[in-house]
Amino acid sequence: METVTYSLYGDGSDSHRYYDDAVAFTEEVMNKMSEEDGIEEFSRYVADRNLKSMGAEIYKLELLMIGVLWRVYGNIEYNLDSFRKLIGWLQASGEFEQESQRMTIWYDFLKGKPRREVEHRLSKAIKLAEWFDKRSEETLGRYTLHVNSFIDGNRESLKGKENLIFCMRERVEYHLNMVGAEIMNRVFRSAFLETKEKKVFLPICMRLKSNEACSAVPMEQGLVCRGCSKDCQVNTITTMGKEQGYKVLIIPHASTAFGQQHMAEGEVGIIGVACVLNLISGGYKAKELGYEPQCVLLNYAGCIKHWHQTGIVTSLALERLQNLLQFDPAGSPSDHTSTS
Ligand code: SF4
Repeated sequence: METVTYSLYGDGSDSHRYYDDAVAFTEEVMNKMSEEDGIEEFSRYVADRNLKSMGAEIYKLELLMIGVLWRVYGNIEYNLDSFRKLIGWLQASGEFEQESQRMTIWYDFLKGKPRREVEHRLSKAIKLAEWFDKRSEETLGRYTLHVNSFIDGNRESLKGKENLIFCMRERVEYHLNMVGAEIMNRVFRSAFLETKEKKVFLPICMRLKSNEACSAVPMEQGLVCRGCSKDCQVNTITTMGKEQGYKVLIIPHASTAFGQQHMAEGEVGIIGVACVLNLISGGYKAKELGYEPQCVLLNYAGCIKHWHQTGIVTSLALERLQNLLQFDPAGSPSDHTSTS
């Protein structure tokens, strides 16, 4: 199997070890951030303004996200003006819509604080990100070994292309999304379990056949598999969905996954299957539109639009998806018996 950027197989033949490593490292990150100050105050700020509550664990993830994105895209002055510029750049790039919206809430929160306190908080977030950068490479680096060579090999050819910023994202951003997906799955789990209807959204790059040869038919929210190939994993998952009572849709592009229509909150639970870099933004987007999300990572990237000239058929760990779809509230998304 050709690895373009990341692969959950690492140097093995399945993604079993990845899920153990991701759970263990997420625990370590959460412990490291357990005494993060200012989270309660930020929670009160959100509640006082009637903004959607995400929960303390997500706010900690956001502090880490601010630090990571600052180190990759920001400048060396840790003040409010630099924070505003960073958010502006992220917005203008077109790749960080959800992240920049969340960071704007933090910016407004910090705006009411004395300058020294702002600088202290920002430098703490950046320090945390420094630790995360190093430690995530030690723990998750085996799964992102090809990111740097992809960046080096494609920088020139992607210049001026719409894909540039997305495809050039750094290893630490992959690791942030890996940990972010674990945290979001835990935090949003109980709300997902309580929804009346469940759906699974699969990316188009999982289809075994080409666009022309695939028999899937377009429906309101995406394409529905017609089962033309027994070896296609989309077919397997669609059949599971029919037996177990959830809809499975193929989504042509991450940005169109949820449409723009707001759902009545708590009604629909979704499992979004996506390439690592789309996980955090996908989770926020789903929440924004009233869905209760969970996510599963594609085992590796391979779509023709971003990563590969002819496209590699992508796949997921079926057992992982099945675990998330166990509607037993005692079942944890971190539990898994086997993962392929
Ligand atoms: S099995 Fe379904 S998704 Fe796969 S190629 Fe056929 S119609 Fe398309």
